[in-house]
Amino acid sequence: MAGRLILVFCFLGAVVAGAAQVWMMAAREGLARLEERAEADLRLASDRLVSALLQFREIAVLAAAHPDVAALARAEAGVAPEAVAAVLRRIADQAGARDILLLSPEGRVLAGEAVPLDRWPLTPDLRRAARGASGRHHLVDPATGERMFTFAAPVFRENGPVAGIVLLRIEAEQVEAPGRGDPVPVWFTDTAGVAFVANRSEMVFETEARPVSLEGVYPPGTPLHAPARRTRMVAGTPLQEGGAYLPALALPVSQPLPVISMTGHALADATGVMRSARAQALSVALAALAVGAVFLALWERRRALAARLAAEARANAALEQRVAARTAELSAANARLRQTQAELVQAGKLSALGQMSAGISHELNQPLMAIGSYAENAELLLERGRGAEVGENLARISDMARRMGRIIKNLRAFARQEAEPATRVGLAAVVEAALDISQMRLARAGVSVDWQRPDFPAIVMGGEVRLSQVVVNLLANAADAMADSATRQITIRIARGDRPDRIVLSLRDTGPGIAEPEKIFDPFYSTKEVGTGEGMGLGLSISYGLVQSFGGTLRGENVSEGGALFTVDLQAAPEIARGGPKEEAQ
Ligand code: ADP
Repeated sequence: MAGRLILVFCFLGAVVAGAAQVWMMAAREGLARLEERAEADLRLASDRLVSALLQFREIAVLAAAHPDVAALARAEAGVAPEAVAAVLRRIADQAGARDILLLSPEGRVLAGEAVPLDRWPLTPDLRRAARGASGRHHLVDPATGERMFTFAAPVFRENGPVAGIVLLRIEAEQVEAPGRGDPVPVWFTDTAGVAFVANRSEMVFETEARPVSLEGVYPPGTPLHAPARRTRMVAGTPLQEGGAYLPALALPVSQPLPVISMTGHALADATGVMRSARAQALSVALAALAVGAVFLALWERRRALAARLAAEARANAALEQRVAARTAELSAANARLRQTQAELVQAGKLSALGQMSAGISHELNQPLMAIGSYAENAELLLERGRGAEVGENLARISDMARRMGRIIKNLRAFARQEAEPATRVGLAAVVEAALDISQMRLARAGVSVDWQRPDFPAIVMGGEVRLSQVVVNLLANAADAMADSATRQITIRIARGDRPDRIVLSLRDTGPGIAEPEKIFDPFYSTKEVGTGEGMGLGLSISYGLVQSFGGTLRGENVSEGGALFTVDLQAAPEIARGGPKEEAQ
């Protein structure tokens, strides 16, 4: 800000200095031209004065040569002074002179009109003429106060000496008159420094304040005065100002005129020159200011632009900082998320492990119990010596053991999430195998089973062992549920599904129904007493997973007549869907 102010002031200073320079140069050049013109004007006026004065001297000389004048001066007989005076009068009238006199070399008036004096004072011109040369003089007439130029011409005798002097007088106004209308004031000073001739009347008798040798030229009472003008230096040139009939500002020029022993002076009007110099300086200053203003505006715009760019850069930097901070936050959150996920996976693994081990004991318990009852049976039969039936029981035991092996294998597969691929399975055979396994238990619980084989070959996609596990589980749940029921019956049916590629197995019991149908498939949900070894709450959730892995669904609901209804909706094997050959159930 301060820098800009200083710059502006410097610029303004430079503009002022430049304008002053321009003004100075223009003034000098204009004044030089003005001086030339003024000198020319002065030369013209001087020429006019000099030639007029020379002309009057000629007339004086011619008058001196007039025979009558010469005769009177030589005092020759027959020449009347009156006649000579008349001749001189005539010449004076024709020349425009005030008067012409004939004087003796001593100054006595020989001929002349209306001259009060008989002796003429010997002015320098008369003394010169008495010595034989023509002379000229100027003076203020003491009698009338008029400024006069006088011209004296000698009249010689035959043998040489001066016999008389012709004195011609003219008023200074006579020679001033032609220059009166000149626009340029012109005046002429004599050797005493007094303005004797001037084309402005108020300049007459002007003189600088210095001793004037009056020498009889200016009698006492002559109104000598100092000029009213002041001299002032302008553009290295002394100019003059003031004066009522003079230009406000003027350039003085002067020219010595040795022929008439005077110095010519002129005052040229310099106001026009100064005005034009001022105008030039002003226009230069204005142009410079305009250019400066444009520069200033451009500079300002550049500064503003730079400031805006800087602000944008700052804003960008702030934004980037915020983005970086946010990114850091996000990556931290991501890291936390990944850790949480890992923890969840671990927890899931643990839960799956728990499910698996629970499943193993649960699933193996039933065949183990079956094996136990077959073995007891075999013992009784052996005691009674019914060997054939013992063998039958033993065969069933080994069948059970094989089945247990397969269960373990399946559970392992289930735990590894690698179920064996689904194959074609006869659903009726699966149901009958499950009934086989559960037979003892159902009998003990007093449950009767209503089972009808389907009238169509119900071949589904699935795993035989796993499907029979599901059915065994459903049978066990039904038996448990009906423990306190008066009627204990399970109805098992196989039917075609809603769509041709579906087959539905349904089990209905006559128990109290499901207490909370929406919760039964949750792991560890159980309404059974803890510690019975049965109620782990895993049977249905494992069954649900198995059925789902075959592309089927397991549902549990209550029927309006009472009791629970479980349905297993399974994918029919492709041959059935395409109406292929019937398959024999087991
Ligand atoms: P658990 O048999 O170990 O309790 P399940 O997952 O097999 O575990 O069964 C979960 C629950 O579903 C049972 O505790 C019971 O409340 C309910 N449930 C299952 N089957 C039936 C049924 N046939 N009738 C009524 N409730 C049943």
